[in-house]
Amino acid sequence: MGYYRFLHQLSGMDEKDRQSEERYQDQELRSLLRHAAEHSAFYREVFGDDLADIRFAGDLRQLPVIEEELFNERIDDIRTHIVRKKRGEAESPERGQLPRLWLSNLDLQKQTAAVDHFKKQHGAINLDMKRATFYHGDFVPLGQKEGAFWRDIYYLNQRLYSAHHCTEPFLSAVVRNLDGFRPDFIDGLPEAILAIARFINDHRLLLDFQVVAIFVETELLSESERLEIENAFGCSVRRWSMKTERSPFLSECPAGNLHFNMRTGVLEFTEKGEVLLTRFHTKGTPLIRLKIKDQWMPVHCQCPCGSVHPVVRKPLKPVSAFLQSRSRGRVTSLYLATVQEKFQKAAPSMQFVQNSLDAIEIWLSGTDFIPAELEQNIIREMAGIFGEDMNFTVRGRLNGASEEPGPAGLIINNLQFPQTCQSDYSTD
Ligand SMILES: [Zn+2]
Repeated sequence: MGYYRFLHQLSGMDEKDRQSEERYQDQELRSLLRHAAEHSAFYREVFGDDLADIRFAGDLRQLPVIEEELFNERIDDIRTHIVRKKRGEAESPERGQLPRLWLSNLDLQKQTAAVDHFKKQHGAINLDMKRATFYHGDFVPLGQKEGAFWRDIYYLNQRLYSAHHCTEPFLSAVVRNLDGFRPDFIDGLPEAILAIARFINDHRLLLDFQVVAIFVETELLSESERLEIENAFGCSVRRWSMKTERSPFLSECPAGNLHFNMRTGVLEFTEKGEVLLTRFHTKGTPLIRLKIKDQWMPVHCQCPCGSVHPVVRKPLKPVSAFLQSRSRGRVTSLYLATVQEKFQKAAPSMQFVQNSLDAIEIWLSGTDFIPAELEQNIIREMAGIFGEDMNFTVRGRLNGASEEPGPAGLIINNLQFPQTCQSDYSTD
């Protein structure tokens, strides 16, 4: 019931309506925080009375960041005990494994509904339509060399294909079976789906069925991989990702951008490039402002698809090493290296970050105090190179660049937006 109710609720909402989406997000956030305060000893202790002041997602900043180490250490106090430990689950996780979140049935149903709603937006209706899923698992013994490399789950209207067997010499058997099954949509692991697509393209096979869409569970898919799959199946490919239970739910829109689904939580980005995740459907083990390892950065633009859910991207190294001057065009990293050399003594490590056409941030590592004279000198130097019509901000950070998990390197050019956002440089 939880699944259907939430799916129905999601279908009635409008992703393009900022006000109502934010109102919903704030509501869910308050409900999660209230729940955590009532049932979790850890959050009562850490957040205390501050919790009452949180009304909106933007207020979360008032609460402390929860480091993953602390989260793991105190997970027993974080768990709300509205869920019982699953039978057979180990008391302590195996070495090197993170302790699992205990989630309630409703948590899991809502998570599934959110993913299914995404697929529905692209024309695929789970349970109603025939679904072929490429999946890692030992439901087909790894050593099996012939016979069926798939299994049916009748009540889910789904055929599972063993991803281990999406390799030669099994490919032709898998493709033949897929053609006989005639799925309405395909989802699962990109490597397996890609291998099938290559086989179909290489052998110029014509398929007997037409899927509405293909959903690959990945954050990154190269243009050539996408084309390979689209050519084989004649439909569009959409990415989605919820890598672990501590990862944000991201999904690709028709414009090809990855959106964070703000109906499932709050994603915050700190100036240091850290990513903080609050997830709503974690009533069993509330996850609030957890500093996660996944590296994402916000793309500040209105997506052409119209959704107000935030667009994110991986902090990839810049394609070409340059920053943009408002009036003088590109400034290559060579110039910035000379700036760094000049101030080597006072500031051994520098990084230049550009988030908008008007402004550049200069980060100095290993200090949080910048003498006024040094600041003035750096700004003068930058203005000499980039022109007087831009803003320069000098900032310090305590961690050395090498220790930072975030973007490293001399320059970070965030003007290189993905997909179709290039025309908009606004950073509000
Ligand atoms: Zn979009």
